[in-house]
Amino acid sequence: MGFNKKTIEDIEVRGKRVLVRCDFNVPLKDGVITDENRLNGALPTIKYLIDNGAKVILCSHIGKDASKTLEPVSKRLSEMLNKEVVFARDEEVVGANARAAVEKMNDGDVVLLENTRCRKEETKNVEEFSKELASLADIFVNDAFGTAHRAHCSTVGVTDYVDTAVCGYLIQKELKFLGDAVNNPVRPFVAILGGAKVSDKIAVINNLLDKVDTLIIGGGMAYTFLKAQGYEIGTSLVEEDRLDYALEMIQKAKDKGVKFLLPVDHRVATEFKDVEPVVTEDQNIPAGHMGLDIGPKTEELYADAIKDAKTVVWNGPMGVFEFENFNKGTIAVAKAMADADATTVIGGGDSAAAVNILGFGDKMTHISTGGGASLEFLEGKELPGIVALNNK
Ligand code: ADP
Ligand code: MG
Repeated sequence: MGFNKKTIEDIEVRGKRVLVRCDFNVPLKDGVITDENRLNGALPTIKYLIDNGAKVILCSHIGKDASKTLEPVSKRLSEMLNKEVVFARDEEVVGANARAAVEKMNDGDVVLLENTRCRKEETKNVEEFSKELASLADIFVNDAFGTAHRAHCSTVGVTDYVDTAVCGYLIQKELKFLGDAVNNPVRPFVAILGGAKVSDKIAVINNLLDKVDTLIIGGGMAYTFLKAQGYEIGTSLVEEDRLDYALEMIQKAKDKGVKFLLPVDHRVATEFKDVEPVVTEDQNIPAGHMGLDIGPKTEELYADAIKDAKTVVWNGPMGVFEFENFNKGTIAVAKAMADADATTVIGGGDSAAAVNILGFGDKMTHISTGGGASLEFLEGKELPGIVALNNK
């Protein structure tokens, strides 16, 4: 899937009303934004449009429904851009207030619309709201990678009612790093998959097995693979209905000549708590114990497999990294990636959080801003919010 979408640099924006779908779905605590990654990610496109004399109309959702407002985002963005971002407070998102705010704009001005989920049509991709959004603008720019896997009014529907729909710098960057890593990797290509459940990652495992030289499995999903092969897993997470699938994937790896690595030891506990871990001797987990992290021998095995890689894609923590006693495997993998002379790409919401919390954020080539979107990308799916944009 080569990248063939028009970008903001391919079109004339001066004097035009440009509606930009951003991903401002940031976490808020007492009205304060606690993680600004997504705001930072949106700045290059917004700055380019301001500098090139567009009338910049920003929109986004925040939260799952209508209960949150984007007002704190408008304030913080004003500071970050050093320029007023007018907040178009409007329950209808595109109501009289929003229209009036857009009416008043001069070239280079910035307006932020209210949370698109204030409109119940948004997530159902209903025509009416798509048309209203489109009516504000001459050009639509999608830069919301984190929502690109959803066909909503503000990501897909709106493109039917504007002449020009292109992508911004963030989507371009995400597609470049994720796309090159997965579809055009410099080899050896190693993928590391972890996290809680096999069922969340079925399509990712299957798709990546067609592409990688080595597949490393850790986290909660490892126990289903181990049990399928007859190892004892105690009270660890397991998906009984995925045992056959696990064996199928192990066979697929063999057939394809892909090196398939599973934990050779574990850090375990008798309960799901941040307690002093017990390290197992081998793959087997004693009765009454659950695996909460990979063990030290596995850390070494995985670090060794990552060391000579030229491309590494990682999704899913190696253990319950939220517990200090069980973050060692995740740290070891992050460190091995940081030390490797490789392009390193992180996908997945919890994985991105883990890498940042553990202090490896600036050591990776690219950390995707899209949790679900990056996973669907790793599954090999086309993202509707990107498909809908104009081809070059
Ligand atoms: P991502 O959001 O990056 O795709 P996931 O949501 O699949 O990642 O997985 C992250 C979660 O998996 C974390 O909350 C972590 O605690 C959990 N996890 C990892 N290993 C285990 C384990 N051995 N047992 C239970 N939960 C685990
Ligand atoms: Mg997650």
